[in-house]
Amino acid sequence: MLSKDFIQKMKTKLEEERRAVAEKILKLKKPEVDEDNPDLDDLGHDAADDILEDSLLSVHEEILEKIDNALARIADGTYGVCLKCGKQVGEEDLAKEPWAEHCRVCGK
Ligand SMILES: [Zn+2]
Repeated sequence: MLSKDFIQKMKTKLEEERRAVAEKILKLKKPEVDEDNPDLDDLGHDAADDILEDSLLSVHEEILEKIDNALARIADGTYGVCLKCGKQVGEEDLAKEPWAEHCRVCGK
């Protein structure tokens, strides 16, 4: 069982992380400033940048979803339990990744 103190600590961490990730998503979603004036030489570079930003965006959105799920699990008292096997996820692993959904055995 996780202690209430530990869960509270993870909750604070999740909420902080959630704000940071939401901010990153907002920044990535902002329209490009130089879109009106595409320089042909830059097109290839820009396309690569867009792909990078798109994948970054989906990574952040995935984390945001996991954070929301973790906060929901804190609310209903199932936080820190592996979604696959039902075993307790180690505190060490949760401290590193508070939104972790699987224990070491199932997660890797
Ligand atoms: Zn497991």
